[in-house]
Amino acid sequence: MTRITALNHIKVAGYHGDNRAAMRIYAESRISLAANSNAILQGKRMKENGMACTCMNCKP
Ligand SMILES: [Zn+2]
Repeated sequence: MTRITALNHIKVAGYHGDNRAAMRIYAESRISLAANSNAILQGKRMKENGMACTCMNCKP
């Protein structure tokens, strides 16, 4: 998994409030804890702002 892919997956996990999934992706990738927290926050903000999720499960 590339760094960008990992960050995108963590962002989606943040969007869904799935901290467990975020931590699993974090553990499997080599991104920093700061980048991990940042990606989770970005996902949470997307949801707060009413933006559509970009993950496979949410796409129509
Ligand atoms: Zn989604």
